Amino acid sequence: MWQRIQTAVQMIYPPRCLGCGDLTESDFGLCGSCWRETPFIGGAVCESCGVPLPGEADGHRIECDDCMKTPRPWRDGRSALLYDGKARSLILALKHGDGPELARPAARWMALAGRDLFREDMLIAPVPLHWSRLLKRRYNQSALLAQHLGRQTGLEACPDLLVRRTRTPVLDGKTAAQRMETLENAIAAHPRRLRQMQGRDILLVDDVMTSGATLTSCARVCRASGANHIFVLTLARVAKDT
Ligand SMILES: [Zn+2]
Ligand SMILES: [Zn+2]
Repeated sequence: MWQRIQTAVQMIYPPRCLGCGDLTESDFGLCGSCWRETPFIGGAVCESCGVPLPGEADGHRIECDDCMKTPRPWRDGRSALLYDGKARSLILALKHGDGPELARPAARWMALAGRDLFREDMLIAPVPLHWSRLLKRRYNQSALLAQHLGRQTGLEACPDLLVRRTRTPVLDGKTAAQRMETLENAIAAHPRRLRQMQGRDILLVDDVMTSGATLTSCARVCRASGANHIFVLTLARVAKDT
């Protein structure tokens, strides 16, 4: 019975490319030409923030200048896409509430990009969104990514491990120091989730990493709340020169 319903659904809604809407055979979500236009990150990357680096990965730990100058409060970070071109429109659709179906393939790209980060008994936690923004957008895109990532990796996802205590203003256009100040004290561990976090490795999930200020606050909160190692996985990374 279920099989028949599934087949019927596929006949009415054949898989379409998330980039252009054309029919596609691929269950990875993109047609061939959109796939080629989407800037997936590959090759050598900064182990801390996931930004692509020139040269080739040779097995030694490499970091970008920023991460060497100001070490991140987490162990390793990865990102699936560069926040550019087609990736930008995909992420905006996901962020603004009209693309929840993007989350499943996006989480699959993240699972690939983050394959070196996964640890046994790791807890996946999204960067929290304030409830007032949640009302406007209908869902927290990072929580959606975390849930799909949990399903794909078999790791536990906890959508409300971290919460926003105050509504933080939009961070665009502020300097890194201003962002940090704004975020200070805005994020906290959910009091009822504290026990769940003790001694465990945490994978923080977000849609886009720009300076990493929000992720820094989240990582600090997790560390202060008794977590073990923190890792960071985002769908997209803003390259420094954009
Ligand atoms: Zn396409
Ligand atoms: Zn870096």
